[in-house]
Amino acid sequence: LDPTNENFSPEELDVEKKLRPLSFDDFTGQDQVLENLQVFVQAANQRQEALDHTLFHGPPGLGKTTLAHILASELDVNIKVTSGPVLDKPGDLAGLLTNLEDRDVLFIDEIHRLSPIVEEYLYSAMEDYKIDIMIESGPNARTVQINLNPFTLVGATTRSGLLTAPMRARFGIQSRLQYYNTELLTTIVQRSASILNVPISMEAAVEIAGRSRGTPRIANALLRRVRDFAQIKGNGKIDIKIAKFGLEALHVDAHGLDEMDNKILATIIDKFKGGPVGLTTIATAVSESAETIEEVYEPFLIQQGFLMRTPRGREVTELAYKHLGKIKGNIQGG
Ligand code: ATP
Repeated sequence: LDPTNENFSPEELDVEKKLRPLSFDDFTGQDQVLENLQVFVQAANQRQEALDHTLFHGPPGLGKTTLAHILASELDVNIKVTSGPVLDKPGDLAGLLTNLEDRDVLFIDEIHRLSPIVEEYLYSAMEDYKIDIMIESGPNARTVQINLNPFTLVGATTRSGLLTAPMRARFGIQSRLQYYNTELLTTIVQRSASILNVPISMEAAVEIAGRSRGTPRIANALLRRVRDFAQIKGNGKIDIKIAKFGLEALHVDAHGLDEMDNKILATIIDKFKGGPVGLTTIATAVSESAETIEEVYEPFLIQQGFLMRTPRGREVTELAYKHLGKIKGNIQGG
């Protein structure tokens, strides 16, 4: 099982949708972000203007897409959803933009993966609500400028470092989403269990929450799998016993670390004596890009106290040795 796997079957996607909070009130956590957004939305609604362009960044599965939908719903407008890699020609984007109604939301996931020409095309749309469209071809080809309805671009990225400066500057609102603590994730698990109509004990909800890598998407995925165990191997209710049994069977790490988290820690210990070691060296050793390690894996490992950033590079902590059952230094005391 890979709870972070996004290649869900259609049924699973349906469940995903069902579990998605639909309003500010329904959304758990990210208090600071939410408080600000509520003010901006209320102000935009009062003025009947489009909300400023909004950028969400942060690790996968923390609720960026969910918030984009909530914004549209709180603004009482339509949302069109697309993603960076899908828009490969300015023409694709023009089609979407010209179909937006007044104040609509255009959500672009993975906005750091827009091609440079599409990105450039987006600039004037974002700034002046105008785009140039090429009409006819060959010697008669010419561009005409057309006006768009004022709209809100909501961009989401896991890799804010890869966003170009001009792109970033065009977002009037920028919010970074944080990992959720166990208490918040427990609330999310309980909420999801009630939507899925499965009884769950407090203790079991805490257990699932604590192993979810600070991530609601993982919490929901684990809950669904544990529900299966409860149904087939138990009495349909999720208590602590069946939760532990299920999580064990799924080989979920006690701290919710995933395979890459553990690989990064083990590599620093085994190959670099626990560090300090530079980010790019780690990246090469685990065959992952330095940016992904820095923006997706490292923040969680640091937050959980497994890894430290020092001026000389990354260093694992005692907790990492303990977690992986490894002994610090070698017998010769090296
Ligand atoms: P990605 O960038 O990988 O697409 P994301 O940050 O857009 O991830 P979402 O798709 O919004 O994440 O959230 C993943 C799932 O987690 C959703 O199905 C939603 O049900 C759940 N979820 C996210 N945030 C919350 C929350 N604050 N409360 C309850 N459920 C949440």
